[in-house]
Amino acid sequence: MSERTETRKQRAARRAGEFPPAPEALPRPVLDSHTHLDITVSEAGVPGGGPTDDPVGAVIAVAAGVGVDRLVQVGVDVESSRWGADVAERYAAVLSTVALHPNEAPRLADLDEALREIEALAARDRVRGVGETGMDFFRTGDEGRATQEESFRAHIAIAKRYGKALVIHDRDAHADVLRILDDEGAPDTVVLHCFSGDADFARECVRRGYLLSFAGTVTFGSAGALREAATVTPVDQLLVETDAPYLTPMPHRGRPNASYLIPLTVRFLAATTGTDLDELCAAISATGDRVFGPW
Ligand SMILES: [Zn+2]
Repeated sequence: MSERTETRKQRAARRAGEFPPAPEALPRPVLDSHTHLDITVSEAGVPGGGPTDDPVGAVIAVAAGVGVDRLVQVGVDVESSRWGADVAERYAAVLSTVALHPNEAPRLADLDEALREIEALAARDRVRGVGETGMDFFRTGDEGRATQEESFRAHIAIAKRYGKALVIHDRDAHADVLRILDDEGAPDTVVLHCFSGDADFARECVRRGYLLSFAGTVTFGSAGALREAATVTPVDQLLVETDAPYLTPMPHRGRPNASYLIPLTVRFLAATTGTDLDELCAAISATGDRVFGPW
């Protein structure tokens, strides 16, 4: 059957077959600090395939099987934020964050109304972060920048008002992200999701007390600068994420991603930074609890 006539369900079933095999379990439990369960189950299905009437529960169970026993579900618009907030109330392993993605904000007909909905969700107990918000100069052109910045500033204010972690998406916008944080006054907890800077930018973020969350991108061959950034990041300011279903770590780049693949990135980071694996897992776990917990 051609891609064109394939239904969404058939496509999900086909892609489920493309999930990489499960890696060896970690010696201690860790969390996936940034994942999109909704996009994973609708676009890629469930690792291991097979029919299930609870795809979200199945993704969680496969992850728990290799030591990834907690995850943070991240919202990108009002609908996914509401979905994540509901899921976090149904599954003990899941906490959520809510936001309008920086590439989404400029496309909205009524930004203020959407922000009011995000704020209402941010008040909920199992919503522990506001994000992903921030700046993206890669996907959004000049015409959308003012709106993107307005939205980012509003999200910073919401995070501070409700005492939640601020989860930042920063693509080709390091200097502007710091400028806006300084201008608004950063919340107590700031996480740079899918950290993409070099060692200098990492040092600057570390100095400010921010958390750096590394995704599968750190395992990519071309990511030398990112590996240096990981090396200068203290273990108590470091998190690990999938950003699933995207950014699958090596050696499975290009195949669908899910939280059960976190061990590949954790092992890679341990080897790259010369940190004992046990110690790294314990640090990531404690940092995750401090930033988003308790679960
Ligand atoms: Zn994301």
